Amino acid sequence: MHTLNRSRHDIVIVGRRVAGAATAMLLARLGHDVVVVDQASFPSDTVSTHAIARSGVVQLRRWGLLDAVLDSGAPAIRQVTFHALGESVSRPVKHKAGVGLVVAPRRYVLDAVIAAAAERAGADVRTGVTVTGVQRDRRGRVAGVHGHDRGGAAIDLGARYVIGADGLRSRVARSVGATINEARLAGGAAQYAYYAGIPWAGMEFFVAERSFAGVFPTHQGQACIWVCTPSADAQAVRRGSGSREEAFGELLECSAPQLAGRLRHAHRTSPVQGMLRQPNQVRQSFGPGWALVGDAGYHRDAITAHGISDAFRDAEFLAVALDQALSAGAEERAALARYQQQRGQALREIFEITCRLAA
Ligand SMILES: Cc1cc2nc3c(=O)[nH]c(=O)nc-3n(C[C@H](O)[C@H](O)[C@H](O)COP(=O)(O)OP(=O)(O)OC[C@H]3O[C@@H](n4cnc5c(N)ncnc54)[C@H](O)[C@@H]3O)c2cc1C
Repeated sequence: MHTLNRSRHDIVIVGRRVAGAATAMLLARLGHDVVVVDQASFPSDTVSTHAIARSGVVQLRRWGLLDAVLDSGAPAIRQVTFHALGESVSRPVKHKAGVGLVVAPRRYVLDAVIAAAAERAGADVRTGVTVTGVQRDRRGRVAGVHGHDRGGAAIDLGARYVIGADGLRSRVARSVGATINEARLAGGAAQYAYYAGIPWAGMEFFVAERSFAGVFPTHQGQACIWVCTPSADAQAVRRGSGSREEAFGELLECSAPQLAGRLRHAHRTSPVQGMLRQPNQVRQSFGPGWALVGDAGYHRDAITAHGISDAFRDAEFLAVALDQALSAGAEERAALARYQQQRGQALREIFEITCRLAA
């Protein structure tokens, strides 16, 4: 390690994607001194399909970011079709809470739109910075993070609050010793690839025995084609096939033969990606000087496509709690406990549905 880069802030956020960038934007808009660090280079994708549930689209609109997402070329999706038991039912997306569309922007676009809004609001966004652990003061309270940049220079950021928005395998959560308060079966696999060359009529879902597949239209005339199955089924098909792509094709053929037929006239524009054995878990989300938001604090199987909108919702709960603790003189523990309680209530219904579907 060479040069030590040292500074002090109200809030240091680790992770610059949907949870971290949204929390930073909201706190910076409230006038706080916020630094966001991320080890990745941007713009970049992460392993994720990217349909945003209506609640998340409503948040984007309220934050003044929906137009930027649509201007990026993400198509406005106004129709949803369910295919099950040989029948298909299409419904328009209802106009509710100010929006009559849903959207599925690529993550390298969405994450950049939110990070740019955070920067415009005054947050200092630094990439290529890996956090290796938290610092504590003499009383044991979390008081900052340490890490290094790509060149190996040591970085030492002091903060009144450290926010772990660093995803499922959160380093912050491990450093502070955040307990997993609820863990369910981690049985689900989600795999996807991008296709182009045929028209897409909105979002589509295909329900079949032991599988759920679908179409999320996205930028440049492409669609994200995905299939969720039990991990054991995905692994069994993979063992019997020559490649991941061949296995994906076989899974689609079983799950959604009609879609597989249409895809013969399209071409795949990406490798197949995804995740096996997706955890369903809720972590303790705060302690003295720290909090967790997004997947770092709460992770659910991708089958209900709620991670992005959950991250937006919890970013807002957390920003309000931290603002109260920092500027309204509210008692910190009570404000952050309220955050955890609000998060716990808000996640319950979708978490239960997700665990049941994934099982
Ligand atoms: C296969 C799959 C499909 C999905 N499909 C959908 C979907 O259709 N719709 C939906 O809403 N959700 C979906 N999700 C869930 C969604 O991707 C996540 O909920 C969402 O990405 C969580 O965002 P986040 O900001 O909390 O964390 P992440 O997106 O994981 O971002 C964490 C960031 O922290 C950074 N970081 C990590 N450790 C460090 C460190 N030590 N130092 C510095 N930086 C660090 C990383 O570089 C990363 O940029 C899917 C997930 C999967 C796996």
